[in-house]
Amino acid sequence: MNQDSPFSAAAPVLVPMPAERPYTYAVPEGMRVVPGSIVRVPLGPRQVAGVVWDGGADPVDARKLRPIEQVFDCPPISRDMRRFVDWVAQYTLSPPGMVARMLLRAPEAFDPEPWTEGIQLTDRRPDRMTGARERVLAAAADGFAWTRSGLAHAAGVSSSVIDGLREQGVFETVMIPPRPVVPAPDTSYAAAELMPDQRAAADDLRAGVEAGDFRVTLLDGVTGSGKTEVYFEAVAAALEKGRQVLILLPEIALTHAFLERFQNRFGTKPAEWHSDLPPRMRERVWRQVAEGTVKVVAGARSALFLPFKELGLIVVDEEHDPAYKQEDRVFYNARDMAVVRAHIGGFPVVLASATPSVESRVNAVQGRYGRVVLSSRFADAALPDLRTIDMRRSPPARGGFLSPLLLQRMAATLEKGEQSLLFLNRRGYAPLTLCRACGHRFGCPVCSSWLVEHRFRGQLVCHHCGHTERRPDACPECGTLDHLVACGLGVERIAEEVVAHFPDARTIVLSSDILGGVRRLRLELEAIANGDADIVIGTQLVAKGHNFPNMTLVGVVDADLGLANGDPRASERTFQLLSQVTGRAGRTGKKSLGLLQTYQPDHPVMQAIVSGDSELFYEREIAERERTGLPPFGRLAGIIVSAPTRAEAEGHARGLRLAAPNASDIFVLGPAEAPLSLLNGRHRFRLLVHGERRADMQGFIKAMLAAGPKVRGQIRVQVDIDPQSFL
Ligand code: ADP
Ligand code: ZN
Repeated sequence: MNQDSPFSAAAPVLVPMPAERPYTYAVPEGMRVVPGSIVRVPLGPRQVAGVVWDGGADPVDARKLRPIEQVFDCPPISRDMRRFVDWVAQYTLSPPGMVARMLLRAPEAFDPEPWTEGIQLTDRRPDRMTGARERVLAAAADGFAWTRSGLAHAAGVSSSVIDGLREQGVFETVMIPPRPVVPAPDTSYAAAELMPDQRAAADDLRAGVEAGDFRVTLLDGVTGSGKTEVYFEAVAAALEKGRQVLILLPEIALTHAFLERFQNRFGTKPAEWHSDLPPRMRERVWRQVAEGTVKVVAGARSALFLPFKELGLIVVDEEHDPAYKQEDRVFYNARDMAVVRAHIGGFPVVLASATPSVESRVNAVQGRYGRVVLSSRFADAALPDLRTIDMRRSPPARGGFLSPLLLQRMAATLEKGEQSLLFLNRRGYAPLTLCRACGHRFGCPVCSSWLVEHRFRGQLVCHHCGHTERRPDACPECGTLDHLVACGLGVERIAEEVVAHFPDARTIVLSSDILGGVRRLRLELEAIANGDADIVIGTQLVAKGHNFPNMTLVGVVDADLGLANGDPRASERTFQLLSQVTGRAGRTGKKSLGLLQTYQPDHPVMQAIVSGDSELFYEREIAERERTGLPPFGRLAGIIVSAPTRAEAEGHARGLRLAAPNASDIFVLGPAEAPLSLLNGRHRFRLLVHGERRADMQGFIKAMLAAGPKVRGQIRVQVDIDPQSFL
């Protein structure tokens, strides 16, 4: 820590703005700041919290600088974390200030949590005993400090009884330190009895944690093989070494079941970190992570930017999940950045998945990552029997979307008192509404997309910008009444068909836009797990990680849906999603079935899934990526230029293209109008930069941006390194 010596006259401070470098501030006499100190500084007319950064301050006359106003009473941001911020900024081509902004998202946490006033029993006894007083003394006899109202409540008396005792000196006033948001996990609380292959995998991960150096291990195990139980052993090993642990989950708000499993293993829940956390809780978690009181955080991708005091392990669960990619301001993939964070911190990272990303698989094959495999389900639960339904041969009835074969199986499942899941990755009722009289199509006024009908809510909604309008009765174009038709299908429409076939079944529709939000979703998921539903119709929300013991049939309504969208990862995504969703079936040993409705039963993805041979898929996909130089054998970056007019966007994008430097290992495609050519009123053009594996993409793009036209007015240029979306 020899570098973290205090700054004297002036210090560099990184502020949470699109700042390319730290700004220099004067350090007033008597103030002590070190790299990592969180400080309050003036910025224009405002005051902001920033972080004292590394390196020398600019050689300017300190008297001309504005002074640091205050150093917060907060543990400094560690050197590892500062290096991480710089690294992420460089890699994603984002201003370091914007990355620091993600680190400083809990402003109230920079001041210590206040102590609260409490009372504690002394040796004095009251002058006279009453029933109420006796109850209070009994409740407080444990000798711990209580809050006045807490003790009154526990003893079932009014606060005045306690005040009376306090006046007599039976209680004295004490200050109670802030309570931890969660108790410390107990690694010996309930260790699972692992099966031999699980044991071997857990020992492997444990050894990595005990060695305490950087390494990446891919924990590759079929759905239901017990990956969670296994990586909990790595978590235990890290805790035993006194280190903190971060577990990243793709949909934290929904992983109630995960928190409970953690509690069953460690006797307490981990701290949570995600966008639904109440602000006060966020602040307490942030602070206690910084102080080292919180030992384990289960969180969404943004938890990577928590100021851990002594992080010793990161687990990325469902590492292939696209939700790890943030596409807002700083575009980053939390899975990849977790590996970077571990590398900087010199500790291990575990990537867990039943369907690893092609990138991680290749890294494992090439020996950069270790790989631990669990090839069978726990307790011999059989994987579901998987088959395709050829929709050309067994088409649905007119106006319907469910093949008679699937409906038959649903009826049989219902008969047995077991659950079915119908999966369709499309929210709402129908993706397009048109007028049968004049052909008018309902489009978003500010995006180049159709409005999706949400019939339950009576609304038409743009899924890109959120624009919402009431579904009218008459066509706004020609005025004809009652001639609007829904085209295509969404989960609500499937629900309509299901209810028509099975009017007595208990049917639930689940998608992320459910009324009542996350809380309602949790309740519904619990209800399903408890068997309080017969047929569940859901989007990818239900595909992920849930354990539904009585679910024995999974029907994929449109298995082809994700295949034809021009995305280089279309096959991979489809394979992963379909494997995950069919993996919901038969998790407790009952015989189970997965049916994929498809018009392309011979497609390699369908074949790989029904054969149960994922190697088949990976081998083919890896060979294909290698042949085409796509990730991880080559590198991609997207550049999205947007502007209020099409001409401006196109002109700027063309200018950028012309500014591309010469390089033998990188070439630029485009510009082309983006598939989503209008978003929120902005016209969009895309460039795609394609480089060889070792190409300096960042250097190339930086040079291109520097030599390109000046970004002026309303034009925006967004760089997306390792893009997941090509819209
Ligand atoms: P995965 O994450 O690989 O899909 P899980 O960790 O969710 O698998 O395990 C599937 C189910 O099997 C869970 O209900 C889990 O509690 C149970 N399970 C797995 N391994 C064990 C074990 N060794 N002892 C008891 N239960 C286990
Ligand atoms: Zn829109």
